[in-house]
Amino acid sequence: MDFYPVAIEKLIEEFAKLPSIGKKTAQRLTLHVLNLPEDEVREFAGALVNARGTVKYCSVCGNFTESETCPICSNPNRDKSIICVVEQPKDIMIIERVKEYNGGYHVLHGNISPMQGRGPQDIRIRELVSRMKEEVKEVIIATNPNIEGEATAMYISKILRPLEVRVTRIAAGIPVGGDLEYADEVTLSKALEGRTEI
Ligand SMILES: [Zn+2]
Repeated sequence: MDFYPVAIEKLIEEFAKLPSIGKKTAQRLTLHVLNLPEDEVREFAGALVNARGTVKYCSVCGNFTESETCPICSNPNRDKSIICVVEQPKDIMIIERVKEYNGGYHVLHGNISPMQGRGPQDIRIRELVSRMKEEVKEVIIATNPNIEGEATAMYISKILRPLEVRVTRIAAGIPVGGDLEYADEVTLSKALEGRTEI
């Protein structure tokens, strides 16, 4: 690719840093951008900078928000006695799509992975435990059904066991080794329904 000008090489490099984007896709995206009208490119670049600048994490649950707390935490109609624990903010969007869950959330921003040297202190478990002072009756663990997600679920269940709270895990229907993202709505709805104590 030495025949590309430096500016193009640089853009390809930046696209290739994004998740799931290989070198070939990065090249295709770069060529696409170069064919766009200049004002569209400005709008795109502006949206990137603006999102990074204005979006922060909810001080209660860790979800994305533009204010102090996210729309879910500040909604008085949501049941504050149930907290669904997920790995990433995108998992909230997935569960919200099912439209059957009316509790709150807690985003861990990661999982426990001894293989990759990520322990409980690297994710928002301390923050979860501190929320148990509130009127929380149940914690549903909806981490991904893979090795890291299971390890995380087991750890949280162990930590919360001494506290007076019911700890459940979404189970049936989610394929082992899978990712919440790829579960369809019916499967996810059944998984929430069929949650078990852990
Ligand atoms: Zn929140």
